[in-house]
Amino acid sequence: MFDYIVVGAGIVGLSTAYHIKRLDPGASVLVIDKAPGPGGGDTGRSAAAFRAFFTNKANMLLSKSSIAFYRSVQEAGFDLGMRFIGYLWLVDRRAQPRVDAALRHADALGLPYERVDLGLVEERLGLRASVRGLEEAELMGLDDVGEAILVKEAGILDPDRLVEYYYEKLRSMGVEFRFGSRVVEFIVEPRRPLGIEGEPLPWQDSRVSGVRLEGGLEARARRKVIAALGAWSDQALRAIGVDPVSKPKKRQIFVVRASTGELSQILHARGFNAEGVMPFTILPRDVLIRPEPREEAFWIGLSDNLGRPFKLEEPPAPEEHYYTLGILPVLSAYMPAFEGLYPETSWAGHYDMSPDGLPVVYEPFDSDLIVACGTSGSGIMKGDAIGRVAASLALGLEEAELADGSTMPVAWLGVQGRMAERELLII
Ligand SMILES: Cc1cc2nc3c(=O)[nH]c(=O)nc-3n(C[C@H](O)[C@H](O)[C@H](O)COP(=O)(O)OP(=O)(O)OC[C@H]3O[C@@H](n4cnc5c(N)ncnc54)[C@H](O)[C@@H]3O)c2cc1C
Repeated sequence: MFDYIVVGAGIVGLSTAYHIKRLDPGASVLVIDKAPGPGGGDTGRSAAAFRAFFTNKANMLLSKSSIAFYRSVQEAGFDLGMRFIGYLWLVDRRAQPRVDAALRHADALGLPYERVDLGLVEERLGLRASVRGLEEAELMGLDDVGEAILVKEAGILDPDRLVEYYYEKLRSMGVEFRFGSRVVEFIVEPRRPLGIEGEPLPWQDSRVSGVRLEGGLEARARRKVIAALGAWSDQALRAIGVDPVSKPKKRQIFVVRASTGELSQILHARGFNAEGVMPFTILPRDVLIRPEPREEAFWIGLSDNLGRPFKLEEPPAPEEHYYTLGILPVLSAYMPAFEGLYPETSWAGHYDMSPDGLPVVYEPFDSDLIVACGTSGSGIMKGDAIGRVAASLALGLEEAELADGSTMPVAWLGVQGRMAERELLII
């Protein structure tokens, strides 16, 4: 018996447990995960890039305050591997309206960005901004890069270190963990059991009182059960008639080594940030290049939407043709230095997609179950703030205090009162 049970030890579950314990130090908290340790789901498969650059105001605030929190952790001496290398958006006509919408929010919130001279990007990153006239580019309908936007409060971090940070904190606060334990059932029981056969009956006031684990063991929560199951949310919650309003979609990362002098120069490009590393770069059609200077490599990805099913694949496998036919032609059209290069290794995971790209944090049917998911591909960069919102909801608060001193109504991430502005910058 615990006060709170958190199912899922990814960034969302860890951060939620941490903020529950911070707000209610006397509470007993148990965190359960089927993986052998924390961060064994999509958190550990992430590209772990961050930016406070979104078209939905709530997303922007979640990310901005989480980045501020991670920065303070790093400055206090716990190395999260944060590197403020920036995000470089190479914008064609198709992406322009989305980027403009994000820039309007950035202006309103005073988030720093600058327009970079395309000539500099051509020189330092080997960009071919003008692709019109190239046979293959014409065939693919690719457009010229019209402008380059460098978002400053952005970069990359080490997701394993972020997980370690929360995990160490939680252990020192006395939170208990149970790894290698799969939750097979969320237990629904009447608040006032009458001992009648078939309980809970439809007229009874019921709640989610705990979870049943593989092997039969049960854990009970006096106050709340938090389902922080990421891509597994739909699979786990549909059995009790709860809709997490988000679904899994496969996402893939391909690792290309900086194997030539030219690629090495691109990786360590100067002039964009104090780190002397190329920024996280987004090409037209949303092909993204994340530098991994520690491995002398690029992590390359692309998010496909129409045609990619909502499906949980276990374990998720990267698809070779997705790189060779889907990514490489675009990549080498805009950055010829990558022509003919194939990945050394690759992996796949899932984005846990909500319909509007905003996380989902709500308590269905006054059930004492808090659903916290729907991170839509940006759960690392928003993780601390999502945990604050979920913890506030668990404690019955209407507002969450975020790390930068701002507050957010808990309802903004709910299903009612939602900050329903479509997020256009899911990449
Ligand atoms: C390829 C890729 C690249 C990404 N890049 C970025 C990026 O650059 N920046 C960014 O911010 N985000 C990125 N993301 C998204 C980010 O990784 C997620 O938003 C985030 O990790 C979600 O965290 P979570 O805690 O909700 O889910 P998870 O980390 O998946 O945690 C859910 C946990 O639930 C556990 N679980 C599932 N079912 C059960 C069960 N029945 N019983 C017990 N435990 C269970 C799982 O083992 C898992 O540990 C990326 C994701 C992928 C796949």
